[in-house]
Amino acid sequence: MENLYSLAAHRLKELMVKGEAAPSAILDQVFSRIEKFDPKIKAFVLANKEKAKRSVNNPTKLKGKLAGIPVLMKDNICVKDEVTTCASRILAGFKPPYDATVVKKLEEEGAVLIGKANMDEFAFGSSCETSCYGPTKNPWDITRIPGGSSGGSAAAVSADETILALGSDTGGSIRQPAALCGVVGLKPTYGRVSRYGLIAFASSLDQIGPITKDTEDAALLLSVIAGYDEMDSTSVDLPVPDYTKALSKDVKGLRIGVPKEYFIEGLDKEIEAGVKAAIELLRSLGAKVHKISLPHTEYAVGTYYIVATAEASSNLARFDGVQYAFRAGNSRDMIDMYIKTRSQGFGDEAKRRILLGTYCLSTGYYDAYYLKAQKVRTKIREDFDKAFKECDCIITPTSPTPAFKIGEKMNDPLSMYLSDIYTIPANLAGLPAMSIPCGFSKSGLPIGMQILAKAFDEETIFRAAYTFEQYTEFHTKKPKL
Ligand code: GLN
Repeated sequence: MENLYSLAAHRLKELMVKGEAAPSAILDQVFSRIEKFDPKIKAFVLANKEKAKRSVNNPTKLKGKLAGIPVLMKDNICVKDEVTTCASRILAGFKPPYDATVVKKLEEEGAVLIGKANMDEFAFGSSCETSCYGPTKNPWDITRIPGGSSGGSAAAVSADETILALGSDTGGSIRQPAALCGVVGLKPTYGRVSRYGLIAFASSLDQIGPITKDTEDAALLLSVIAGYDEMDSTSVDLPVPDYTKALSKDVKGLRIGVPKEYFIEGLDKEIEAGVKAAIELLRSLGAKVHKISLPHTEYAVGTYYIVATAEASSNLARFDGVQYAFRAGNSRDMIDMYIKTRSQGFGDEAKRRILLGTYCLSTGYYDAYYLKAQKVRTKIREDFDKAFKECDCIITPTSPTPAFKIGEKMNDPLSMYLSDIYTIPANLAGLPAMSIPCGFSKSGLPIGMQILAKAFDEETIFRAAYTFEQYTEFHTKKPKL
């Protein structure tokens, strides 16, 4: 008998149908993994065994597409009456009075929520090191970061401490940790998944998406969480396909664009080789590969750090000690209370972003920074519009380097920001993009490749990714813990 904890959700579903796996056995196995390995990996900020057991023991709840499947939530997704902190002191002990729409949808399909995953504070970061709980470790090498900001979600899937996980992606926070931990991570098209109940970072960029053991699970999970929601005015009212139907094993005639601006100095040689070999494999299977150009790529990081910090500074204004969670004591008056609460409640990276964003939005600077960034954002989107006239999907590396050492970039924010160079453009353009495992470095660290498609064409991504998985074994490899 295989270990249930190591299987993808679609395999567990098959076993459950045949009566060869029971939800309670799956849950027990997942929790023994958590108890055994999480003290080392630290992917969880909350593991809610009692609540999970109650769901598994309640037959009325175990119905639907994800019946009996354990799912882990990133700690910025609201679960009613369950501590949700965004890994920030300022939200210590905060219990939301409502469920995020994705949580509701998951529970309606029988999923079993097992806890909350560690993350960078308010999703600000690429390494999980800005968390007030301390960093999560990469299961492939615990001296290294798991990526961020959804590092806890990706590490937990990789270490088989959960079957499925949700992350959020504003500039790469699902895809980059998925790449660094050797799992699959999808940022859906902006508007595909409701953001209601996702604690906002940058509202024009944020999307919730799946982090899973393989492509089929990503398609399954997206089918459950996608869809219009009247509680999120930016969610789009389009029918939700059954994405698992897009899992064809055939890329014949698929036009793949490879942007020349992504294979440049600074890209790790082993990653370049891994991604190029993956593209060659797809070509040998019948895809048509050609070079494309996305000329405004070099402005993406700068543009993102203006738009994202501007929106973040405005979104974070609500955390002032009045309405939510933490309030500093010993204040002389209200202003003093605001100052002390925010000084003590936010970590350094959050403060840096609030300052940067407030500056970009202030009178006299708004036109020079924010407005200009919006114009460049349009240029970046136009690059993609043009490219998608010549190709159906675009393949790039997900991250320029494999997982770096814990502490390596913490004192160098600029080099941390640059590590998102390949993932940011998809958020600025609102496009779907997925990272899948496509190799390992000589030292045994996972390598991810990114597949992007037109808005609302997640199906093409699934087609390319699924075909690749049928001919390779990278996604089946597990870290030795
Ligand atoms: N690493 C990027 C940042 O620090 C992206 C984070 C995210 O997608 N939430 O902003």
